[in-house]
Amino acid sequence: MKLFKAEIVHYNGAFYRDYGILVESDTIKAVEPVSNLQAQYKDQIDEIIEWKDQVIVSGTVNVHNHSFQSLLRGIAADRPFLEWRDESLYKFSKGMTLEDIYHGALFAFAEMMKRGVTTVCDFFYLHNFGTESDEAVIQAAKDVGIRLVLARTMYDWEGAPKGYVETIDEAVTHTRDLFYKYKEDDMVNIVPAPHSLHAATPKMIIAGHSLAKELGTKFHIHVAEEPFEVEECRLAHNGMTVIEYLDSIEVVDEHMMIVHGVYLKEEEIKLLGAKGASLAYCPSSNMFLADGITNIPAMMEAGVTIGLGSDGACSNNRISVFEEMRMVSILQKASTCNAMCVNYHQSFDMGTVNGGKILDLPIGEIKEGKKADFVSIDLNDFSMQPMNEQLEQMLPNIVYSMEPTAIKHVVVNGDFTVSHGRLAKQKEEDVIKGVKDTMSRFYQ
Ligand SMILES: [Zn+2]
Repeated sequence: MKLFKAEIVHYNGAFYRDYGILVESDTIKAVEPVSNLQAQYKDQIDEIIEWKDQVIVSGTVNVHNHSFQSLLRGIAADRPFLEWRDESLYKFSKGMTLEDIYHGALFAFAEMMKRGVTTVCDFFYLHNFGTESDEAVIQAAKDVGIRLVLARTMYDWEGAPKGYVETIDEAVTHTRDLFYKYKEDDMVNIVPAPHSLHAATPKMIIAGHSLAKELGTKFHIHVAEEPFEVEECRLAHNGMTVIEYLDSIEVVDEHMMIVHGVYLKEEEIKLLGAKGASLAYCPSSNMFLADGITNIPAMMEAGVTIGLGSDGACSNNRISVFEEMRMVSILQKASTCNAMCVNYHQSFDMGTVNGGKILDLPIGEIKEGKKADFVSIDLNDFSMQPMNEQLEQMLPNIVYSMEPTAIKHVVVNGDFTVSHGRLAKQKEEDVIKGVKDTMSRFYQ
């Protein structure tokens, strides 16, 4: 077993000095004072890893991303949505090869890993090569060492590039096949993801929900990101709101994880809470795309479990969950004029333990029995100072002031993925070379 020692460990919602984390293979076996662990497990500890002047916290959980969009960062920025969609998303994504998809995912996962993301959900809809496209993303995740939830997108709106679109049968079969192929793999999880009301037919959404029930997973779906979806729903379905309509086709329940939820009325939010649905909230993306502001206090009040997502790197344009913790708190303070509406404890939980709950994985906490996914933070980084004896500033500094330079080591599933601030499983220059190769092809 490995014993990880740091100056301070985050455990059970508090910070403790001289604590250690005992890791057996991929799982946390015990979290206790170092002296106890050394006495109790003396003969079973093979390796002691000691990080001075550092605090260990759980790895963060990015519940919504589109990895290939990292290759589109900075292209056609600051343009109206439809112009951006045609000049960036549709223009480049339709021609992406398997290699491009791999390089994009490797780049996205590598950057996230250095920002402390240990699990990512990739909402993935480039199906040009059938499940080979999915396998390219899965390979990239394995090469970086990130824990992956692949929200395999079910998309049948014909207005999009051909490669996004599948029949209902194809979408269900491919998703189910991948689910069973990776069922025993702790690092790869597959969930169905009908894209949205505007890019999936009601039959496709119902098929996604049924598949989630059959497999015992969540299903992910973009909901009410922009006003046009609400208006289209109202016109098509007798004046119904989006959640009313989704409830009328019986897909609103504990299997449902909605993404965004910007344009929802209070009654819709209450219904989500009552039915046990959850939310992937992407505050930076909603700001960048000028979407609007989700009513997070109402979501919390209704009992909706909220996790944080970066969304794609071309609509953020950073891909860090620590960043989204800061954003959810300060954006909601600005929108409500209430400094206490989302505090740093709540936003830290959204980026860690809630992500584990939403993705149905034993992650997001440093706790016995959970997966050994954690991050060490340098207490001597300027962005982590000052710090008093009582550690009063620790969590506020992590949420509000910490810069990525403070992230020193990352461990996923008991393995190093970042060591001394550098990727441990990939050469960073190779990741960049893959991006440059793809870019030179894009602009040939
Ligand atoms: Zn999205």
